Amino acid sequence: MADRENILVTGGGSGIGRAVAIRMGKQMTVIVADLNEDGANETVAEIEKAGGAAYAIKTDVSDSASVRDMKDFIAKDIGPVSKAFIGAGIFIRGVVGQIPEEDWDRMIDIHVKGTLLCAQAALPDMVAAGRGAIVTMSSDFAVMAVPGAAAYMAAKSAIYSLTKVIALEFAPNIRANALGPGPIDTPILKSNRTPEEYEKALGTLAEGLPIGRLGQSEEVAAVADFLLSDRASYMTGQIVHPNGGQLMW
Ligand code: NAP
Repeated sequence: MADRENILVTGGGSGIGRAVAIRMGKQMTVIVADLNEDGANETVAEIEKAGGAAYAIKTDVSDSASVRDMKDFIAKDIGPVSKAFIGAGIFIRGVVGQIPEEDWDRMIDIHVKGTLLCAQAALPDMVAAGRGAIVTMSSDFAVMAVPGAAAYMAAKSAIYSLTKVIALEFAPNIRANALGPGPIDTPILKSNRTPEEYEKALGTLAEGLPIGRLGQSEEVAAVADFLLSDRASYMTGQIVHPNGGQLMW
């Protein structure tokens, strides 16, 4: 483990986070942090099967005590992190006039507070080493507007803003960029939808995209890998969109 860098991947138990963890596991030791412990363990098993090293830790990114436990585990059992992919997230549908307060709070806590807490957990190691890179999970929806997703959009805009401030406050040695994907075929698209609604949504979403299909998690992981690597050494404070052309700006 001595010469390998360590990367923290939150939301690594499913979807995009899992694809990032598996891809980065070919280069680094991966800490797979997720509320979904079974999912995190499955990701670790896949990384190990491919010859890599990884550790699962059940973490609720919206809970400072849980994130502190994660940080303590990394410090004690693994070693300093030089990279972080902060990707845990959920989707709760809700129109502005009727969003229950608890849904709003949960969306903001997991996405915005969770991104802050995980960045706070990872940054001290990077500062001590004088180098590092962070990728956060925003969305096309940080910039676009669609009805029924107010809390999600507000949260994703806030993540983008927070990422820019991290980029400024920790420049020049630590870079921070946000990913702004379009629709990616992961389990999150099934949340709040019946199986029939999900099937219908796949078709509707694909029709609206210049590329004509939904993205795959691996296509987002490839961009995350780039942003985390020295190949992106002149990029910081950006939002980068693997989005099939959904948003062009
Ligand atoms: P996903 O497959 O559902 O993965 C999200 C993971 O985060 C799940 O394992 C989930 O656990 C975990 N999680 C949820 N709440 C958590 C918490 N409080 N603490 C720790 N882990 C938690 O969804 P995905 O599509 O890969 O989403 C990953 C990120 O990409 C999210 O931030 C999402 O908003 C963003 N994104 C997705 C798309 C898309 O179209 N898929 C587009 C743009 C941005 P559970 O399974 O237990 O909920």
